[in-house]
Amino acid sequence: MAPPPSPLAYIPFVSVENMMRLIHHFGIEHVLRDLSAEIEADYLRWSLFEKTPRLASHSQEGVIELMPTSDGDAYAFKYVNGHPRNTARGLQTVAAFGLLARVDTGYPLLLTEMTLLTALRTAATSAMVARHLAPADSRVMAIIGNGAQAEFQALAMKAIVGIGEVRLYDIDPEATSKTVRNLAGAGLKIVACASSQEAIEGAQIITTCTADKAYATILSDNMVGAGIHINAIGGDCPGKTELHQDILGRAATFVEFEPQTRIEGEIQQMDASYAVTEFWKVLSGQAQGRTDARQITLFDSVGFAIEDFSALRYLLSKLDGTDFFQQLDIIADPDDPRDLFGMLQRAA
Ligand code: NAD
Repeated sequence: MAPPPSPLAYIPFVSVENMMRLIHHFGIEHVLRDLSAEIEADYLRWSLFEKTPRLASHSQEGVIELMPTSDGDAYAFKYVNGHPRNTARGLQTVAAFGLLARVDTGYPLLLTEMTLLTALRTAATSAMVARHLAPADSRVMAIIGNGAQAEFQALAMKAIVGIGEVRLYDIDPEATSKTVRNLAGAGLKIVACASSQEAIEGAQIITTCTADKAYATILSDNMVGAGIHINAIGGDCPGKTELHQDILGRAATFVEFEPQTRIEGEIQQMDASYAVTEFWKVLSGQAQGRTDARQITLFDSVGFAIEDFSALRYLLSKLDGTDFFQQLDIIADPDDPRDLFGMLQRAA
């Protein structure tokens, strides 16, 4: 998608309300499938992107992160937080907004909410990876941690992998009830479980999406049988992991961008000699994915800037001819570019 021909003084801004309208207009499973395809296409252009571990500002309560990347034509960044104790205050654990800009002028093209968009792109990425790494006949998934990300994860695995049954567990039964309610009518068999052990029974895919700023053990080694695909999305920050270290010892581990995942992912528990595969290499045929039916595959997901870039460009492409945005007057446009002060006088 080429950026529009000239710099614009007004850029589209997609509010939370308009994002909700847009998702319902196109249909959430349709959006998830599209996003997954966009992310896969950008992963195949991996070498073109500027890549850096995200810039993180840590506090006792959580983290605030900036996630930038560019493919040389467009530049994107996301501002996102991760505050596990926020839900107790009635706030989101993860909230975000982001911006897409053109590289040739540096002018922005789009500003948008990204709390919903992050849930969509995270689920689309999880499903993209599972489609390539999970057992071919995967029909049952477990979701441990039934918070904000859970339904998105379930619907992406349905739309992209063909999952038909979702088994749910959360330490807070209210969270599980909420997820059961929200997924009723989605065409999935939903089973609420009383323990994570019960949730993983018969599952080929286990998604862990809990939030706790701790080295947690959501899955212990004895819980993970041969052939399972683990989609671990909740361990995404230094000091915040979900899997017992012994699982990593048995698994073939796939990551987004290795330098970032070494800092933030489950593999922060392992030393630098622990081997991982960047997933783009599987897509491009440079590395093997699952090698046998009994192998445990692990996607150590932390969320990477290219996924947000793909989501932002996808969103921009969907705005044409719609009213799912407001015009935002974010760039000063004096009649003479050198006369910024003269422009200020217009309002005097
Ligand atoms: P959330 O706070 O809305 O939900 C987390 C849920 O986990 C809560 O319902 C909580 O009760 C449950 N939980 C906590 N400890 C548990 C345990 N021991 N066993 C079972 N359940 C437990 O958070 P969210 O927005 O759904 O995000 C979930 C996690 O995913 C967070 O850690 C977040 O940082 C992470 N995340 C990762 C990515 C990525 O790209 N990898 C993207 C978004 C969010």
